[in-house]
Amino acid sequence: MTRTESRVLVAGGGPVGLFTALLLARRGIAVRVFETFTELQDDPRAATTHPGTLEVLGEVPGLVEDMARFGLVTPIFQFWDRPSGRRVAEFDHALLAADTAYPTVIQCEQFKTARLLLDRLRALPNAEILFDHEVTAIAQDADGVSVTVRGPDGEGVHRGAFLVGADGGRSLVRKSCGIAFDGFTWPERFIVFTTPFDFEAGRGYCPRSYFADPAEWCNCFKVSADGPPGLWRTVFPTDSTTPEAELMSDAAVQERLQRFFPGDRPYEVVHRNLYVTHQRVAGSFRAGRVLLAGDAAHVNNPIGGMGLNGGLQDAGNLAAKLEAVMLEGAADSTLDLYDRQRRLVALEFVQSQTIANKNRLEEKDPEARERNFEELAEIAADPVRARGFMRRTGMIDSQRRAAAITLDEAS
Ligand SMILES: Cc1cc2nc3c(=O)[nH]c(=O)nc-3n(C[C@H](O)[C@H](O)[C@H](O)COP(=O)(O)OP(=O)(O)OC[C@H]3O[C@@H](n4cnc5c(N)ncnc54)[C@H](O)[C@@H]3O)c2cc1C
Repeated sequence: MTRTESRVLVAGGGPVGLFTALLLARRGIAVRVFETFTELQDDPRAATTHPGTLEVLGEVPGLVEDMARFGLVTPIFQFWDRPSGRRVAEFDHALLAADTAYPTVIQCEQFKTARLLLDRLRALPNAEILFDHEVTAIAQDADGVSVTVRGPDGEGVHRGAFLVGADGGRSLVRKSCGIAFDGFTWPERFIVFTTPFDFEAGRGYCPRSYFADPAEWCNCFKVSADGPPGLWRTVFPTDSTTPEAELMSDAAVQERLQRFFPGDRPYEVVHRNLYVTHQRVAGSFRAGRVLLAGDAAHVNNPIGGMGLNGGLQDAGNLAAKLEAVMLEGAADSTLDLYDRQRRLVALEFVQSQTIANKNRLEEKDPEARERNFEELAEIAADPVRARGFMRRTGMIDSQRRAAAITLDEAS
């Protein structure tokens, strides 16, 4: 390989692109990241980082510790039945002490994780991060990939051995490769309000609380924001026919919060956001020298906080495979194994779990609701079953499962 063709190009400087680049650069592989925006975006999105993902992030010294320092360590999560106000079940990740070095969840806002990754990447001489550079076209041949990029000085073509498409759900890289993104879009949009109201002190809810309600479910979780006392984020489904301006109006925001969490004064709302969610997985995570990771490869609803986790787990898997191929002479089929392992897990696990999570919260049939609650309470009361449950929700099982998938396994 020529010098440029020993480089890996990365489209997208979100958390998945940055983490992939960092893992590669730390292994001695030159990387160049292209990011359309001029700087990291700090809009509130994912925060929950599961034990299975902390294991992968733990490869970078000090990273998990920094995430804990700038975020919140939240080992406990709860399920509530909203109409009756009953706490149905509580789970404590401490039960996973024998399963993982990280028996907890860390709530670290996505932009903080991205910042921690970027700072580390910038310290490495073999890593380049080009903000304000948009990938506009890609091509590949037997020796490498050519990526056309529009930057402040005009358009240029960059050459590399491989291209990682970590350019988000609307991925130009995925579309350019003609890879399908099959699945569906939920009719209801999700609305998120961020408030300084302390739901723990004020209501007794823990920093990760899920509320089942046949009329309108809610996820309520805490982030550390700029430091104590932190902020709480509440996520609700919305009616698909109501115009955005109406849903986002001050009156509607207050009405929704008061309906769900009645109080004697208006809630202070510091951020509001409405977004569309999908359940989709790319038809392949590989097209020759192009590999997809993160939202470019799979998207899902946020209940259970699995989207970004899956993407960071992709990054860990892909970096190890690229190292094997580029530095250790492993067969090209090693990259097919990346596709097989991560794609099967996205389909088998993340899609089914996130859809089941949503179904459980919004179940309308009274008998089915009661059965769900009884089952959750029984699992929580039995340490063996609770451990199995949290291995799954904490994405440890999906990591182990991915590692065990071989190329012979049918997809
Ligand atoms: C509005 C919104 C709210 C969300 N809220 C939650 C939540 O509450 N909980 C949760 O678990 N998950 C949430 N998610 C999902 C979560 O944010 C994603 O799973 C996560 O961002 C995936 O990381 P990524 O790096 O794969 O993609 P992204 O974070 O989307 O990063 C992709 C990057 O690629 C860049 N890019 C795109 N095209 C190009 C190009 N052609 N050239 C160069 N750069 C390009 C983009 O600018 C972006 O920075 C939310 C997503 C959205 C969109």
